[in-house]
Amino acid sequence: MTRYVLVGSGIAGFSAAETLRTLDPQADILMVSDDPYGFYSRPGLAYYLTGEIPEKQLQLFSKKGKLNLEVKQIIARVTNLDPIAHSLKTDRSGTLTYDRLLLATGASAVNLNIPGENLRGTVKLDNLEDIRLILSLVRHTRSAVVVGGGVVAVELVEGLVALGVKVHYFLRGEWFWPNVLGEAEARMIERHLAHDEVILHHHTEIAEILGKRDKVIGVRTTKGDVLRCDMVAVGIGVKPNKEVAQAAGLKTERGILANEFLQTSDPDIFAAGDVAQIFDPRSGHSSIDNLWYPGRKQGRIAAMNMAGQKQVYKRTVAVNVLLLAGIMTTIIGAIGSGRDDGPAYTTRGSSETWQQLPNTIATETGTDVSHLRLMVGEQILLGALVMGDQTISRPLRDMINAQVDITPIKPQLLQSDAQLGQSVMDYWIKTKS
Ligand SMILES: Cc1cc2nc3c(=O)[nH]c(=O)nc-3n(C[C@H](O)[C@H](O)[C@H](O)COP(=O)(O)OP(=O)(O)OC[C@H]3O[C@@H](n4cnc5c(N)ncnc54)[C@H](O)[C@@H]3O)c2cc1C
Repeated sequence: MTRYVLVGSGIAGFSAAETLRTLDPQADILMVSDDPYGFYSRPGLAYYLTGEIPEKQLQLFSKKGKLNLEVKQIIARVTNLDPIAHSLKTDRSGTLTYDRLLLATGASAVNLNIPGENLRGTVKLDNLEDIRLILSLVRHTRSAVVVGGGVVAVELVEGLVALGVKVHYFLRGEWFWPNVLGEAEARMIERHLAHDEVILHHHTEIAEILGKRDKVIGVRTTKGDVLRCDMVAVGIGVKPNKEVAQAAGLKTERGILANEFLQTSDPDIFAAGDVAQIFDPRSGHSSIDNLWYPGRKQGRIAAMNMAGQKQVYKRTVAVNVLLLAGIMTTIIGAIGSGRDDGPAYTTRGSSETWQQLPNTIATETGTDVSHLRLMVGEQILLGALVMGDQTISRPLRDMINAQVDITPIKPQLLQSDAQLGQSVMDYWIKTKS
């Protein structure tokens, strides 16, 4: 009987378990994770923080769910991997052996690395434990400083506002999420935040978190200004949890390197999800997605290869549909960077492929409440960003995924006027019929 060990109980580990169980009903499947809460929706955490959903809605399987019955689960931290002995050491369950191993260890929030970061009142939004901490502290929190650009930082801002906290939002650069959004797009978000009485501080970074009796009482900025607050929430980005793999001698770069079969440099070890930097033979790039659906698909494909069914992981265009400060936003494919403001970490809810942009021309149109940007390539659309009105999102997803030849409408698209969306819509209807 083959023994499969899966490290990580996130979406990548879970979809691998599900696939392995289906492919090999007799297999011995063991899932090891150091998250005591097991499998839950991480994108859902923000909605739990704002109070829009109860905690139990984060659990995607009931206690009686089939996986709970058919996959052994251990709560422990893997501290060491020996690929030659095919064994793992854990902090609580001794040594485990495997025939095939999946590393689906995800990514963790990056620290600010400044004095005061260990004070009570410094929080992040990475897992269920973090939300519980925020909710326990918030009763004694009148004002907070949130730092970081991207999905998680803005979710922290919105969550704290919903909890009645006065929020100061520190942005390192000229505008919000500059390595994904252009200025007009970011300003839409910022206007909404300002409307919710969030105080935005551009070009502002924290130098030190100030404390008294081990508790946060304020921050000192790099310019020397002091601002009083009871909480500092950090959402500056994530880094893949690749340390165990790296120490075991597996090839790593930003994440654990995996080929198109999701196999690492050791043939019996596979990687999937936020930790995996996967080679795409079509683009020639190895990149990381910090997205839920690619993680699910990678878990499934990794499991098929672990079970001996050779299957290539075909990257689809990376998409995220999300609410940013209440504005429905769809990001599709290569949208490049509006502007880069220095050491950018990958952020949750984004993909490195968004920045892989060959020759393109950006064309855009917008009003105060909606915005459309298209990245126009030689013959195809390579990416799009749609904010507000979402009528055009579906046609754009289809056209970018199917690499529809846009040569006949390219001159119209490059005119950058209010008809942009209509031109795409008309052409999509025409090409479909
Ligand atoms: C607040 C938030 C908002 C998000 N928003 C979006 C969004 O809008 N859209 C989107 O597509 N995605 C979003 N994401 C990202 C998405 O949730 C992740 O891409 C996805 O959950 C990654 O799944 P994973 O299985 O790779 O890793 P994870 O879910 O991080 O799971 C990794 C697991 O490995 C365990 N682990 C790590 N190291 C060890 C070790 N040494 N030993 C044992 N166990 C270990 C961890 O405890 C954890 O259980 C968001 C995430 C968060 C947190």
